[in-house]
Amino acid sequence: MAEFYIEKNERETGDHLVHFSSCKVLPRADSLRYLGSIASFDSAWQEGKKVYHQVSACTECAAKYAIA
Ligand SMILES: [Zn+2]
Repeated sequence: MAEFYIEKNERETGDHLVHFSSCKVLPRADSLRYLGSIASFDSAWQEGKKVYHQVSACTECAAKYAIA
């Protein structure tokens, strides 16, 4: 399990980015919404989709864990 966050603020693309809690480019805590302790990045993404319409993976997190 890992802990995941999603950004409250959308990017220019309209996407809200999902991050591992260990992400080195994780934004300030007050701009994040906690998604929970979740088994996989994929599941965290699904959780994010329940909150926001447009969700995508943080590129840092995706690169580190080889998930797009
Ligand atoms: Zn990240």
